[in-house]
Amino acid sequence: MSNRPAILIVDDRVENLMALERVLRPFEVDFVRACSGNEALAKTLERDFALALVDVQMPKMDGYETVQLMRQDEKTRYLPVIFVSAVYSENHYVERGARAGAVDFISKPIIPVIIQSKVRVFLDLYRQRSALEQAKDELENVNNLLLESTARANEMAAQAEQANVAKSRFLANMSHEIRTPMNAIVGFSELLIEEDLTKEQKDDVHIIREAGGNLLNLIDDILDFSKIEAGQLDIEMTDCPLGKLLYSLESMVKAQAEKKSLAFKIVTNKGLPAQLHSDPYRLQQCLINLVNNAIKFTDQGYVHLQVSLHEDNNQHLIRFDIEDTGIGIPKDRQQAIFESFTQVEDSTTRKYGGTGLGLAVTKQLAELLGGELTLTSEQGKGSVFSLVIPAGVDITGQNTLNHRAEESEDADSAQFSGNALVAEDVEGNQMLMKAMLAKLGVDVVIAEDGRQAVEKALSQSFDLILMDIQMPHMNGYEAVRTLRQQDYKTPIVALTAHAMKGDDRKCLEAGCDGYLTKPIDHRELRRVLAKYLPAGPEPTSKIIDSVPAQSHEP
Ligand code: ADP
Repeated sequence: MSNRPAILIVDDRVENLMALERVLRPFEVDFVRACSGNEALAKTLERDFALALVDVQMPKMDGYETVQLMRQDEKTRYLPVIFVSAVYSENHYVERGARAGAVDFISKPIIPVIIQSKVRVFLDLYRQRSALEQAKDELENVNNLLLESTARANEMAAQAEQANVAKSRFLANMSHEIRTPMNAIVGFSELLIEEDLTKEQKDDVHIIREAGGNLLNLIDDILDFSKIEAGQLDIEMTDCPLGKLLYSLESMVKAQAEKKSLAFKIVTNKGLPAQLHSDPYRLQQCLINLVNNAIKFTDQGYVHLQVSLHEDNNQHLIRFDIEDTGIGIPKDRQQAIFESFTQVEDSTTRKYGGTGLGLAVTKQLAELLGGELTLTSEQGKGSVFSLVIPAGVDITGQNTLNHRAEESEDADSAQFSGNALVAEDVEGNQMLMKAMLAKLGVDVVIAEDGRQAVEKALSQSFDLILMDIQMPHMNGYEAVRTLRQQDYKTPIVALTAHAMKGDDRKCLEAGCDGYLTKPIDHRELRRVLAKYLPAGPEPTSKIIDSVPAQSHEP
């Protein structure tokens, strides 16, 4: 179909139609002829017109009637009409033509200049309107495309979000599943090491213990990384004693340093506050990562952790410098190593192991704690990783650090008396808990799930209940809630998988007095027992743990 504008010409006499066409030929338009009013109305249904030139006197239906009918139809309501008539005067037009809805009139015989100048105006108007309509259509198209792509983008974002949540959930579940047997492996190897073994056997068990520990660390890193990525890692700010934190850090890394004959010490500068306000668990995690790396990548010399107080913009900052005399990091790799799954060289994994996740997690944790992690290093000489976090407390009026006093050395060799109900569904963990508690002088009764735990707790008296959270039939939360509803007073400590760290609060809300995270740390277990159980007789064998070095004294 032609895109040219069309003019409808209506006259009962063909020669008149031909005359009109001749006069208007210079315009590039289509002419559509109609020989009667009815035909004219029919033609308007077929296409759009820029203009209609309508004869007044026609048999059956005259021009006036035709135009009146046009005005009643949606499609032709605004079609400009010019009457063409031989016997026409202004009076005729005023009385009938304008009333019928025409915009102008031309009298015959037609004077070409007059009709051409009038028609040109309407053709221009039509072209402008068409251009406007086309622009409007295009706009609408673009708008629709935009709406469509917005909808698609939203849908994709929702899908990605769902996938991310599913991924996090999957990882959390998987790591829980892996952790459960790992707990048994690590826990039992720890117990086994203390038995009377040959040197070879001891070495083997150490390897199992270490491999298990590494695997647990790896699971933690992957889990944390995916949680940070999904924006689901919660930071829990609380008051944390700095001395205790450093002490437990030291006891965790000291053995490794000794094994490589590296001198390890923590140097605490003057003026440090005894308490920080931060997330102790995450801060500890950052420091352990950095110190472990320092030990891992250093073959001789030392690893020092220097802690100092700084001020910036009236804010007090705690700075942890982890300095080593190890292999160092070349300048051009110093940025890249903070990215996930990146190591200095491809050969690093072969030589030192690792996945390249630790620093990525540590850096992001540092930022979540409101601080930052930076690095200065020289290849072949060593590295200093600096973690700076806000102290989060008003230093004035705070006690300063004197961390020897924080930890009682006796706690490590203490024995207890009393009995505990352990609710735990996994057999390996039941045996492990039984063995650990028996060693500390505690009698143990096992419940296989939450329902049994409630039954046993109500039918027998206990000094303490250790309650696993994830159990079949009735989970730990429900069991604790059920007991507390019956006014049950015995202390209950939840055993939570670290993977479900956000659930700690839920434990307390359900009515627990505290919680221990798996894998159960000996020292933590002793601390909990000391809180709830009476002391027992003197221990038969004394377990000696590391004590803080001299250098801790400021
Ligand atoms: P991983 O130790 O699992 O490989 P990290 O993210 O902790 O992963 O470290 C990334 C890389 O950075 C390491 O593989 C190593 O090449 C380099 N690196 C980290 N810490 C040190 C350090 N103290 N000295 C030398 N190189 C280091």
